[in-house]
Amino acid sequence: MAVIDALSRQHPNADTELSFRTPFELLVATMLSAQSTDVRVNGVTPALFARYPDAAALATATPDDLEPIIHATGFFRQKARSLIGMSQQLVDQHAGQVPASLDALTALPGVGRKTANVVLGHALGVPGLPVDRHVLRVANRIGLAHSDDPVKVEEALCALLPATHWVLASDAQILHGRRICRPAPLCDRCAVREQCAYFRTLGPVAPRRDPRRVRTAR
Ligand code: SF4
Repeated sequence: MAVIDALSRQHPNADTELSFRTPFELLVATMLSAQSTDVRVNGVTPALFARYPDAAALATATPDDLEPIIHATGFFRQKARSLIGMSQQLVDQHAGQVPASLDALTALPGVGRKTANVVLGHALGVPGLPVDRHVLRVANRIGLAHSDDPVKVEEALCALLPATHWVLASDAQILHGRRICRPAPLCDRCAVREQCAYFRTLGPVAPRRDPRRVRTAR
């Protein structure tokens, strides 16, 4: 699709900015990224994974063990409980491995649809289109979707694109939402403004007047 191609050219090498080596590490990092930033998560995961490299290890942790390590990502008590519960369920039901299905992933404690799609698309080779607040904003402004429901936006985007483009479509829109199509959008720097429904509503932009050349009435 031309719009996604243009966004991916504007944001070359669009990819998740979370650091990970295995599907388990990406699952943990994505859970920690809720209400946080990728930079903060990447700051705590090296110590976390050094001590708990897999589900079997993390399943034996206690909240007191985990909370100080993940504190900087916020909501650390709830996240510690979710990480331990998720790991225990991986051990009990999936031989300690991360399952490659949306239903199995979203059945894990603390794992929502967005997190599941991130892991499927980036670590397990299964097409997934994570919709976060950036994708929600960008897709609606451009006119690719018309809903504030992430599931409906995911369905709309998936229907427009071949499955091979789902991960890239999400990554490119996330970066576009972070860098250009912010809540106060920088439309003059946008590669898709000619195709954007929101931009068309702005109408012709009046040339900015130089206040030094404005004559005052006498
Ligand atoms: S033209 Fe403006 S509103 Fe539309 S996608 Fe680009 S930055 Fe966002």
